[in-house]
Amino acid sequence: MVESINPYDQRKLKTYRADSTATVERKLKQADRAFADWSALSLVDRTNFLRDVGAYLVANKQRYGELITAEMGKPRQEAIAEVEKCATTCTFYADHAAAFLADQSIESDQNAGPAAHSVIIYQPLGPVLAIMPWNFPFWQAMRFAIPGLIAGNVGLLKHAPNVPGCALALEEIFRESGLPNGVFQTLLIDVPVVETLLKDRRVKAVTLTGSGRAGASVASIAGSQIKKSVLELGGSDALIVLADADLEKAAETAVKSRMQNAGQSCIAAKRFIVEKSVKKRFTDLVIQHVQAIKQGDPMDDTTTMGPMARLDLANSIERQFHETLAKGAKALTGANGSAMQRSGCNVQPVVLDNVKPGMAAFDEETFGPLAVIIEAKDETDAIRLANQSDFGLGAALWTQDLDKADRLARQIQAGSVFINGLMRSDPRVPFGGIKTSGFGRELSEAGIKEFTNVKTIWVE
Ligand code: NDP
Repeated sequence: MVESINPYDQRKLKTYRADSTATVERKLKQADRAFADWSALSLVDRTNFLRDVGAYLVANKQRYGELITAEMGKPRQEAIAEVEKCATTCTFYADHAAAFLADQSIESDQNAGPAAHSVIIYQPLGPVLAIMPWNFPFWQAMRFAIPGLIAGNVGLLKHAPNVPGCALALEEIFRESGLPNGVFQTLLIDVPVVETLLKDRRVKAVTLTGSGRAGASVASIAGSQIKKSVLELGGSDALIVLADADLEKAAETAVKSRMQNAGQSCIAAKRFIVEKSVKKRFTDLVIQHVQAIKQGDPMDDTTTMGPMARLDLANSIERQFHETLAKGAKALTGANGSAMQRSGCNVQPVVLDNVKPGMAAFDEETFGPLAVIIEAKDETDAIRLANQSDFGLGAALWTQDLDKADRLARQIQAGSVFINGLMRSDPRVPFGGIKTSGFGRELSEAGIKEFTNVKTIWVE
């Protein structure tokens, strides 16, 4: 049985029956059969189907937004915006897939060898297993599915067990939009079944967004089967504020980046690294913005921060808070003495000052409303601190000197660096990390090509 629980008040929403072995086998067979027909359609036909998915999402955004809010607690308007983002990504790929996947002709130099002409083509791989988390329950799954399906693959979704309603809604969206049976299916299964699927010859590849622990396990099984994997494993993104930054804008964006979705985002700004000369002013501004956050019922449109998604996640951020305090950090908001203000999954946002390497909030990924201020002596020190992390997903850099920004951005060990703006995932640009943040890329042209066979046809 799979239960969904409203994290705001711990009310049980619904119980679902997990898929039996026979059901999983039936869905696998269906995926295998669907792939043959789906991949044989023209790209234009597949993009038209995905345009219909976009229209269906827009027409039903309210209903799906409220489902997201009920299951994982983000404010209703943010949940609706998440559904809208999935819809605009359908349109983006429908508009650009033909260019991204166009055959590429290579005119060969006759002096270098015998090929008169070669062509590179991009063909789908087959059924792809998507293992997804609860923090953006629609966007994380759709970020894979939209380009993956347009490229001609079919999807099998294993979602996080705390969002089973969203998991089934995703299958419903593809079905109600008119896609053929079996092109996108949800499996209500747990981890041992995932292992069986990864070893099944009909599953050709896997994509996972989640923790490093889950990623290491899935990628090692996929590796043992010589199957492609893409991993998006979160981060500890630095947000660097240099002395010449627009501090007002930097502080406002830093708090938004850190605190949106109750701090549960892989590309949240998890470490504010601030040059010493502006640290006091920046910190004061951060505190003002944090104190303006309105916590409450996420169904109430005046609420700007809902609960965290699960009790164990709230326990985890509380542990990181205590361990960081014990090593000498100082709580500026959200703490009563040394205690974190918390009721169930509702965790008051906290700002910690004097955070340093060796403390939990510096070394680990903090997945909750915990902002930390780290002092840097100068820009060189700021880059050193930013790179002093096992993670390498994203980073932000605030300075008015754009030449300097470009030079420093190239020194930051991350999959993306946002200058004077909010770190985000956007269909136009690649998304993914280095180091323990994972490998492979989602979104953009790079993302649609991840699950394709880049095939060379050589003609003499
Ligand atoms: P997990 O990584 O455990 O869960 C994410 C998904 O992976 C779920 O569907 C989960 O299913 C699945 N999964 C977990 N272990 C395995 C495995 N061994 N084999 C196959 N699938 C697996 O994350 P949690 O929800 O427990 O969150 C823990 C921490 O992970 C967070 O605090 C945060 O630091 C990080 N995280 C990062 C995210 C990101 O956006 N990059 C998103 C979510 C979490 P099941 O629950 O059934 O095990």
